[in-house]
Amino acid sequence: SLAIVWHRRDLRLQDNPALARAAEQFQQVLAVFVIDPAIIGRDDTAPARVHFLRESLAELQRAYANLGGRLVVCRGEPAEQLVVLARTLGAEAVFFNDDIEPYARTRDQKVIEALAGAGVAAHPCAEILLHPAAEVLTGQGKPYTVFTPFWRNWSAKPKPRPFAAPERLSAPSVETGTFISLDELGKPFSGKLLVTPGEQAGIKLLDHFCEAALYRYDERRDHPAEPGTSLLSAHLKFGTIGIRAVWQRTIESWRKAPADRERANLAVWQQELGWREFYKYELAHFPELAERPFRRAFEQFPYDHDRERFERWCRGETGFPFVDAAMRQLNTVSWMHNRLRMVVASFLTKDLLLPYQWGERYFMQKLVDGDLSANNGGWQWAASVGTDPKPLRIFNPSTQARRYDSEATYIRRWLPELAPVDTAMLVESERFSPLFRSRYGYPQAIVEHKSQQQIFKERYRQIHSTE
Ligand code: FAD
Repeated sequence: SLAIVWHRRDLRLQDNPALARAAEQFQQVLAVFVIDPAIIGRDDTAPARVHFLRESLAELQRAYANLGGRLVVCRGEPAEQLVVLARTLGAEAVFFNDDIEPYARTRDQKVIEALAGAGVAAHPCAEILLHPAAEVLTGQGKPYTVFTPFWRNWSAKPKPRPFAAPERLSAPSVETGTFISLDELGKPFSGKLLVTPGEQAGIKLLDHFCEAALYRYDERRDHPAEPGTSLLSAHLKFGTIGIRAVWQRTIESWRKAPADRERANLAVWQQELGWREFYKYELAHFPELAERPFRRAFEQFPYDHDRERFERWCRGETGFPFVDAAMRQLNTVSWMHNRLRMVVASFLTKDLLLPYQWGERYFMQKLVDGDLSANNGGWQWAASVGTDPKPLRIFNPSTQARRYDSEATYIRRWLPELAPVDTAMLVESERFSPLFRSRYGYPQAIVEHKSQQQIFKERYRQIHSTE
């Protein structure tokens, strides 16, 4: 008997429910990845992500071969490709892990129907969330829209354990001529990344983080010059590591923690994994978030549509060193520290008064971990238009820099041309005089923070009063 395992954003053997179930129930398993032009061809699909995907798939092909299995790659519309493959090989079933993004859900429904039409069983497996979205509801049976009560309910539930990888596999011999090589993925990438793609690198990174930084996470996570966070985001995005395996490690680390201080730090990291779940959960319940703000009235927010300002923000030429350093980091290594994602998103929406969707899209064009739910959630949060409404918060880039990069180490790392400038001028850009700016070839400030903040507040108040 033969089953197909259809990989999408679960590029691993360990902790893979679809693979584990297929291998348990069928004598032969063929793994397939379908390159979907509707995803790869989008102009906000970052070359960095295609690179991460290509390298991770290449490693996964080798890992399958080592177990006696096989992973093939084809290109086209997934429903068509899977039906043709299942028919040609006489496969009885297709196993795959679930996804919550609106496009993926429509695609998966089409696949399930097409397979049913061809007499092939489809087995979607719960994978992407620790708890399926329908299982975490308020007392009234409604979805949560605020993080804290969601977290209280969610974190009290016993967590599923990771699935073991199969020890051996058997795959049918298939005509390789009909499949494509990974080089045909397109979108060449010549930049550098902070992380190595692939399952082995994901496992190593988790090990390293648990040993080196987890027990100090809360103390260091907001200081972007320090290696205080896990860098696991691209691995979690592409599923080169499974969320059950990651959670399991937090439980083991909890047991081994020397004292309460380490546990308190660890608990904060668990909560970040909770944010990952929360935004996926929100998108699962409210797919329209991909298109519009959760707070509907804010669709009418009178943003400016100044392209020139936007382009200066993208290039990291706003004249605010903390903002510009962050944009340089994004443009150089396709990743940005979380503290800075909040700072630059606040700056775009509340200082430059530009639509959050512009920044959201630019992030997707660049980020190696670009993920619809986390990115959209982060942008809607920063623009104060999303779920979990916090008191209106506007980040002052200078206050942020003084607090989180007091020695300007991060600023100097990404803006090396400013290395000789006084720290005080870098972290408090109001003190960075026009004369000094010209001397170092650094732009004048694009706007004045205080006055822009007033304009933003006034516009915000008007919309808020219509809610
Ligand atoms: P760690 O601090 O080690 O956290 C561990 C994991 O928890 C992360 O890998 C991530 O999977 C998850 N996580 C942490 N914080 C958040 C959060 N606030 N929201 C959701 N998940 C979180 N994260 C993405 O994975 N993809 C995105 O496209 C993305 N876009 C963002 C856009 C904005 C405007 C903001 C404010 C945040 C965004 N984030 C995004 C969340 C966060 O910035 C990154 O997950 C984090 O910086 C990744 O670094 P890390 O792996 O070292 O995180």
